[in-house]
Amino acid sequence: MSGKVVGVLGGGQLGRMLAASAALLNVDIVFLDVGENSPAKQIVSPRSPLLAHIDGSFVDPEKIKALASKVDILTVEIEHVDTNILEEIQSVPGAVIHPSPSTVKTIQDKLIQKQHLQSHQCPVSEFLCVESNVTSIHETAEKIGLPFMLKSRTLAYDGRGNFVVRNIAQAEEAISALGNRPLYAEKWVPFVKEIAVMVVRSTTGEVRSYPAVETVHKDNYFRDPHIAIRAQSVAEAAVKTFQGAGVFGVEMFLMEDGSIYINEIAPRPHNSGHYTIEACETSQYENHLRAILSLPLGSTSLKVSSAAMLNIIGASSNMAEVTNFASECIKTDGCAVHLYGKSECRKGRKMGHVTVVGNSDSEVRSRLRPLLKALPSGST
Ligand code: ATP
Ligand code: MG
Ligand code: MG
Repeated sequence: MSGKVVGVLGGGQLGRMLAASAALLNVDIVFLDVGENSPAKQIVSPRSPLLAHIDGSFVDPEKIKALASKVDILTVEIEHVDTNILEEIQSVPGAVIHPSPSTVKTIQDKLIQKQHLQSHQCPVSEFLCVESNVTSIHETAEKIGLPFMLKSRTLAYDGRGNFVVRNIAQAEEAISALGNRPLYAEKWVPFVKEIAVMVVRSTTGEVRSYPAVETVHKDNYFRDPHIAIRAQSVAEAAVKTFQGAGVFGVEMFLMEDGSIYINEIAPRPHNSGHYTIEACETSQYENHLRAILSLPLGSTSLKVSSAAMLNIIGASSNMAEVTNFASECIKTDGCAVHLYGKSECRKGRKMGHVTVVGNSDSEVRSRLRPLLKALPSGST
């Protein structure tokens, strides 16, 4: 479609869904991932040896340079990449990286991300720097009260870099649980709901947001239209503060009084936006490609009346639990099954998801009910 080759740092399930969209647009796509047979690589057979995928880490400067030498545009499906090397590559005339390395760098350190958002008047709750020692944790408790959320500044995912400090006696335990990594603290946010909004930003800075979803046990559209629209505008304003094109996932907290805080932003397509594949006029994956290729952005409107998404998360190493669940889903009208091609199942591992669409909320609910009962325990 554009004749440009896209290189992606990371080749997991988000890359796999990006590759599916790239195929529809005839866009060549090359992945850098340690897994020779990673979820994304599995579904892209390179058109020429020059477009062969690269086996290696997205934090290995040499491998990133090798990827850059094969492609016209670099993008990421994960934020935990080596941004110093991306900045070096970007300084070469003609190199195109989206979103910009400075954006990924800001976002990948959650403390710097929060400082950035605060300095751009985006709503964030109270947070502060913490040293990895007991005294600093005690001082933090005095300043922001208990409980508070101690977070790893870097390399966090699936809540694994978080520790809820309920009393100061837990200080040492908290530091060692977070692996002595650089930390910061957030005041405890007694939110009533969590909301996510995907926003796509073009190379010219235009932004479009997708309908807000509630992220609890399942991703559902946010039913209160006033809150949903406010969440979209908070998310759009936040994404406007960053450089570069692509899709961003904005996670937010809704408070009892209706106010909204931003929890965190992902500089890439997001788990909570999987529903856009079946439920929106243009999926988050296609819009990510359109954005980074400077093609016109697609409509982010819903094309179905109602939809919900369930993650299939491994409950154990038993793959049969996942395939059995998928076999149940495939019998359900309006249900699209996405399996990620992971060779091993593990407790807590994202193995796939299903999206259920329908002509009304009640139709989706009735289609969903038996599936919720059949889910491997641990899935959401
Ligand atoms: P992921 O990237 O997979 O979304 P993560 O590891 O980056 O997760 P966060 O999104 O920061 O982690 O936090 C995970 C969850 O912990 C949030 O979705 C929310 O439920 C809860 N949480 C995070 N921060 C706070 C806070 N300050 N107060 C109360 N709960 C919080
Ligand atoms: Mg995160
Ligand atoms: Mg999160």
